[in-house]
Amino acid sequence: GALKLRDELRTQLQAKGLSEKVQVVETGCMGPCAAGPVLLMGRDKTFYVQVQPDDAEEIVQSHIMQGRPIERLCWRDEKTDKPAASKLDIEFFKKQTKIALRNCGLITPTDLEASISVGGFDGLASVLAGMSRDDVIEQLKDSGLRGRGGAGFPTHMKWTFTKKSPGEVKYVVCNADEGDPGAFMDRSVLEGDPYSLIEGMSIAAYTIGAQRGFVYVRAEYPLAIERLSESIEKCYKAGLLGENILGTDFSFDLEIRKGSGAFVCGEETALMASIEGKRGEPRPRPPFPAQKGLWDKPTLLNNVETYANVAAIVAKGGKWFASFGTEKSRGTKVFALAGAIRNSGLVEVPIGTTLGDLIYDIGGGIPNGKAFKAAQIGGPSGGCVPLQHLNVPLDYESLNKLGAVMGSGGLVVMDEDTCMVDVARFFLEFVQEESCGKCIPCRVGTKRMLEILDKICSGQGEPGDIERLEVLGEKIRDTALCGLGQTAPNPVLSTVRHFRDEYEAHIVDKH
Ligand code: SF4
Repeated sequence: GALKLRDELRTQLQAKGLSEKVQVVETGCMGPCAAGPVLLMGRDKTFYVQVQPDDAEEIVQSHIMQGRPIERLCWRDEKTDKPAASKLDIEFFKKQTKIALRNCGLITPTDLEASISVGGFDGLASVLAGMSRDDVIEQLKDSGLRGRGGAGFPTHMKWTFTKKSPGEVKYVVCNADEGDPGAFMDRSVLEGDPYSLIEGMSIAAYTIGAQRGFVYVRAEYPLAIERLSESIEKCYKAGLLGENILGTDFSFDLEIRKGSGAFVCGEETALMASIEGKRGEPRPRPPFPAQKGLWDKPTLLNNVETYANVAAIVAKGGKWFASFGTEKSRGTKVFALAGAIRNSGLVEVPIGTTLGDLIYDIGGGIPNGKAFKAAQIGGPSGGCVPLQHLNVPLDYESLNKLGAVMGSGGLVVMDEDTCMVDVARFFLEFVQEESCGKCIPCRVGTKRMLEILDKICSGQGEPGDIERLEVLGEKIRDTALCGLGQTAPNPVLSTVRHFRDEYEAHIVDKH
């Protein structure tokens, strides 16, 4: 409904002769999706939620012309139910630190001048003004940035390997094939601040010595593709892409390649096969993409959030970035909050923020007076975190210890009414359908696990089924060819670990 609201606001402003003085700026996602359409008033930062086109006249008349904010449209505090006078008073925003999302919700996403006015391309400009490639890598090392796509590999190491790989031709690739159920982090960056990605990829190309790059983005994200295409085009016109960028001898071409909905194409080797026009199937590693990637040339692959962080790190310094987060996991992480949570939407917090703070202080808690039961973190490759670990810090190490993973940032919250066996079955069914079928452990193993789970869920489970799930799950994890298969059993193994009694109850009921 936001576009209708935008149009109606402009109509009302025009009717009152204010269209020259008051601008309606269309932005990317501000975060609290459940509250949309939202409207942020520029001067006093009043934050209106669930605004309808019919409200436009009153907003113009009362707020803009008479300076009287409209209380009924204001964001209400979850605990006190009082209207917030300004966005600055709202817990949802106060507890966040936005680096990757720094411009989302602030500027018109494809407006290049607006991006530059808030620091866009400052990082690239300082790189091209005299930073050496090693300087850039040093900044990344200082920052402690780890890949935000899931595995958390140190970014500076990946860039160093690709830079050092011999060869004249190298590529930079962005994995924007975000496919986890409940995840929309990359989508929001692409739709809300595409220039941050272009800038990060350009810095990467300069650093590793590449002249060509690809953004592999899923075709199910048409708005993201539209905005990214428009932004790339504007960068070419402004001399920020193409030959002799900003008058230097650095040249870089960037193209979009659309993925056609295969989840496995988010796996890096399958993604590269797909870009080459081949069937999107993983291949064994080594060789790693840094040695032999696209068309057998050294290739640097990172996800959207990682590149979006790079430009800010280069502009503000690695040490600045490292001042957020924990000892081992620096910086911030974007999470997509979904499921049984009041403020579902997109948030960015310092790594190490506890799950409880994320769910209750930022997420506003569980709706309808229900109790929290568990959160599935990391999508189908991830695991669940139960109530007794609500205070786990969200960092790579702490989550791994609980059998969950940080993943790319999908976080689905479940309340007391959720059956955890059903949840495990949902995720397993998803990966089973998405298995490319190349290797037996994943193709057959996940099918067998799903059959057992179906049996348990329909009340036909037998004693020994839980143990069979565990044995199969561990075998698949150890022997599948790619990350999709290796992590496919995680939701089952982690729910068995934390909610074994629920599995037993399904079986015991019938025996
Ligand atoms: Fe394909 Fe699954 Fe094997 Fe990966 S683990 S190669 S998705 S069959």
